[in-house]
Amino acid sequence: MEIKEIVEKNELVKKISEKKEIVWINNKQVKYSEYEKNLPITDEQIKEAEDRLIRFAPFIKKAFPETEITNGIIESPLEPIFNMQKELEKKYNTKIPGKLYLKMDSHLPVAGSIKARGGVYEVLKHAEDLAIAAGMLSKNDDYSILTEEKFKKFFSGYKVQVGSTGNLGLSIGITSAALGFEVIVHMSADAKQWKKDMLRSKGVKVIEYADDYGKAVEEGRKNSDADPKSYFVDDEKSLNLFLGYTIAALRLKKQFDEKGIVIDEEHPLIVYIPCGVGGAPGGVAYGLKRIFKDNVYVFFIEPTLAPCMVLGLATGLHEKISIRDVGIYGITHADGLAVARPSGLVSELMDSLLSGEFTLDDYKLYDYLRCLNQTENKKIEPSSCAAFEGPVELLKNLESKEYIEKRIGKNIENSYQICWATGGRMVPKEDMDKFLTTYLK
Ligand SMILES: *Cc1c(COP(=O)(O)O)cnc(C)c1O
Repeated sequence: MEIKEIVEKNELVKKISEKKEIVWINNKQVKYSEYEKNLPITDEQIKEAEDRLIRFAPFIKKAFPETEITNGIIESPLEPIFNMQKELEKKYNTKIPGKLYLKMDSHLPVAGSIKARGGVYEVLKHAEDLAIAAGMLSKNDDYSILTEEKFKKFFSGYKVQVGSTGNLGLSIGITSAALGFEVIVHMSADAKQWKKDMLRSKGVKVIEYADDYGKAVEEGRKNSDADPKSYFVDDEKSLNLFLGYTIAALRLKKQFDEKGIVIDEEHPLIVYIPCGVGGAPGGVAYGLKRIFKDNVYVFFIEPTLAPCMVLGLATGLHEKISIRDVGIYGITHADGLAVARPSGLVSELMDSLLSGEFTLDDYKLYDYLRCLNQTENKKIEPSSCAAFEGPVELLKNLESKEYIEKRIGKNIENSYQICWATGGRMVPKEDMDKFLTTYLK
């Protein structure tokens, strides 16, 4: 079928193409016992990623002193936001049952966004592979030696490149520069100036494109492939990035344990994550499912102006459809989500796992941003704020309400709902002040 035909035949896709807010419930979702039968990523792979991050902790601790208090483990707090919960109910005339929490990846050390999980992990893995192959490092070493001059000199003979809308570039750039790599970040047009400035101040080469994220990735990949000493972090295809994000779930489980929170059938977990190309939310979702199985429900949130993942999932075309095919150009204030085409890898993985998606209009990003600041005194970036559309709409929208009634029933009253804050700590004060006073529509 032609894409045009698919759009015309599908009511939901038609609404998406009209840039209207939609709720999509995934009717392909299966029970975890079904999903588990042919997992494309093994438990061993996840364990290996977890172990690698533990090996690197002494290096992280030394290279990024802000991680001293967590002994080199890059992790963010899980905070109750009950004031925000009440305010959202009042302001949007909705019911948000259970307890609302914020997972503050917005404040992760090293890179100030969720990219401090996947991005940092992939660079560390690459560095480890190179150093071990060169006979300079063994897995039993204290990895703090990686801060020594001889390693910097060694890594300076290699290049790392990435295409980014901003935050992935920051995380790859900062980590690679700390190890001594030569780094080139290919930035799409929507990348914020301060992100480019910060990278340049760390000696990272930033190449700017007048085009969108897809173009930045394509050019970066081409540039890197032509250079045998260069490694390309491929956000559209990388399994290593994905593995880095899955570890968030193990860490969240630990935080639940510390708080005495038990997730079971009577106490379900509902998670809302802003989605761009899909790697970050997909990795987190995959990790969460593996631990909490049928007791976790994951929803992605995208802007109506860049709804690439929901378009790929709802049409079944995955990465073969771009929002441009339905006349949307990804010009959104949610710069971290300004992506035209989803990752094929992630889209396939989410096909029978995800509960659904919500999309939201740009003006709401700033309304939620202000609301969080006023009620909880927390500041996160606009892209991050997309997450709040989830709890606001869950029981307001008839389709998601029906889904919850069918799947969760009255246990929704005992639920834990988590909005995943994906970025914000590094936003300069002037930019944040501007966000706080931005009113759209
Ligand atoms: C990257 C990013 C996301 C989404 O991650 P993807 O892997 O692109 O889906 C969400 N929010 C912020 C702030 C980000 O930087």
